[in-house]
Amino acid sequence: MTDLNQTLFDRARQVIPGGVNSPVRAFRAVGGTPRFVKRAQGAYFWDANDKRYIDYIGSWGPMILGHGHPAVLEAVQKAALDGFSFGAPTEREIQLVEALLKLMPSMDMVRLVSSGTEAGMSALRLARGATGRSKIIKFEGCYHGHADALLVKAGSGLATFGNPTSAGVPPEVVQHTLVLEYNNITQLEEAFALHGKELACLMIEPIAGNMNFVRASVPFMKRCRELCTQYGALLVFDEVMTGCRVALGSAQSVYAKSIPGFEPDVTVLGKVIGGGMPLAAFGGKRAVMEQLAPLGPVYQAGTLSGNPVATACGLATLHEISKPGFFDALSATTRSLVDGLTQAAAKAGVPFSADCEGGMFGFFLLPELPQNYAKVMTSDSPKFNKLFHGLLDRGVYIAPALYEAGFVSGAHTAQDIADTVQAAAEVFASL
Ligand SMILES: *Cc1c(COP(=O)(O)O)cnc(C)c1O
Repeated sequence: MTDLNQTLFDRARQVIPGGVNSPVRAFRAVGGTPRFVKRAQGAYFWDANDKRYIDYIGSWGPMILGHGHPAVLEAVQKAALDGFSFGAPTEREIQLVEALLKLMPSMDMVRLVSSGTEAGMSALRLARGATGRSKIIKFEGCYHGHADALLVKAGSGLATFGNPTSAGVPPEVVQHTLVLEYNNITQLEEAFALHGKELACLMIEPIAGNMNFVRASVPFMKRCRELCTQYGALLVFDEVMTGCRVALGSAQSVYAKSIPGFEPDVTVLGKVIGGGMPLAAFGGKRAVMEQLAPLGPVYQAGTLSGNPVATACGLATLHEISKPGFFDALSATTRSLVDGLTQAAAKAGVPFSADCEGGMFGFFLLPELPQNYAKVMTSDSPKFNKLFHGLLDRGVYIAPALYEAGFVSGAHTAQDIADTVQAAAEVFASL
């Protein structure tokens, strides 16, 4: 039989670099042919050969209700009939922002944009504009989109600033970006002691989903907050992935349970809040947000920002996930997946550790959960690739790289989880 995925991939590679419009889709890490998606419904999608997969990517997070949720579909269709884009304000933008403010009381105001990258980049400019400072801290293994200043890896020492991780980023552009080890309190304290008064912000994924699933420890997060406050730097939470995904109130609500009164200064959102449409946001306290144009000197703009179809999709999604019981059920489903996988691995004698929060999970072929990027990267890559392809053959689609998180939706059933665990048990036995 002709593999239609292969046919499409061959054709795509002629006209699109690598055949994909975002690198990880190309299966470079795991090898093999990317699956071209024909359609999706609920917890499943079908590839070009009409093979069905249980979907644990959900567009890398946004599809928290599963694909084609009827209420979302209706809202999008209705909005589309009223017009695609106006370049003038609409009421739905206010409604969406009001909904976000209700879920995350750390913010007084929000600006809508079209991608997480744009939101992160704008939040950074805002932090620099509001503080009048240039330097920033980020952490190894955290991804904040592909803006120049954030494509940085650690330099040779603490006193030195980062090196670009991409060609095309001049060293001068990242010379103000300090890259530290995640969960390392000593390094954090040293960095603030050296540069604290020049720091505009500290940007962090509170639960890092771009190195699979690594939580910032509570003591580490507490210290981040204290040092930012002490030195007048803004604590910027990149919740593009975790926002309305790990809890309705996002990761900041998870940390507020352990650290009384905890709040970030600025929050960056995307993915779930757009429900699968290009929509993202950043927000914070009024005094900071009023630095933005047209009120303040920090310029930021967008032709499609607050797009009427995207806001309809995001609003309907937020409405559904705000219903009583939605997150409890989602968390229980995710937990049952993680527990099932852990038991199956133990039975097969495969080193395994896993964690989850709300509808987001991660697992490692390591005996213990890693606390930073270097540890994540010690995970057994050939074994992961075997696991990935074994699951794929059995109709289970997880992220095609060991440093990516997984996502469960409200459409995943107990049967889907049982089928997934069964497939994993078969593959573990062969590792
Ligand atoms: C996905 C992601 C981004 C980038 O969002 P895009 O919409 O892909 O530009 C930024 N930060 C985090 C934490 C993300 O997971």
